[in-house]
Amino acid sequence: MQTLVVDHPLVAHKLTTLRDVRTDSPTFRRLADELVTLLAYEATRDVRVIDVTVDTPLAPAHGVRLARPAPLVVPILRAGLGMLDGMTRLLPTAEVGFLGMIRDESTLKAQTYATRLPEDLSGRQCYVLDPMLATGGTLAAAVHFLFDRGAEDVTAICLLAAPEGLAHLDEAFQGIGKPIRVVTAALDERLNENGYIVPGLGDAGDRLYGVV
Ligand code: URA
Repeated sequence: MQTLVVDHPLVAHKLTTLRDVRTDSPTFRRLADELVTLLAYEATRDVRVIDVTVDTPLAPAHGVRLARPAPLVVPILRAGLGMLDGMTRLLPTAEVGFLGMIRDESTLKAQTYATRLPEDLSGRQCYVLDPMLATGGTLAAAVHFLFDRGAEDVTAICLLAAPEGLAHLDEAFQGIGKPIRVVTAALDERLNENGYIVPGLGDAGDRLYGVV
């Protein structure tokens, strides 16, 4: 597994305001959206392209176009929805599938409650959107789901990651033989006893959408 912590002053600046407990939901949503676009730029570095030639007003020019099948973007409901617009702004031709997963707060295990994904993901490059890589249980379940349907490679885009979550993923996918990457704005210190990232930013879903 490859991990990329995006080291860029604009990423750090936006993340700092996201973390701030005084940041209200509208500002949080806007900043999360902008931050994802910056992370997506790095996360799509290996997106597949094909060579093409176009005619400029002056002469033919060699270039590239995104290959088919189109990349699949998979936000994990609910908090991953707050990352979708930021991602599709950069990859407007991507298709979007949905995975509804919830963490049982007593066992910290992930349960799937909704799926809307193609049955066959053979040859697909998948981008999973999950703001908080905490224990890694939810993300590991999501990645298994995509590989079971034939996904070729999976890149997870997370606003924040904890060392425990990365270790969990590393172990879960050792020897799987398929590329998996995590792109994040920061690697935080640790998880607390409730499985929250410290210092983190709190509950990402609640900060995006309020407590429901
Ligand atoms: N989910 C969150 O929203 N925040 C955390 O810190 C951990 C999991």
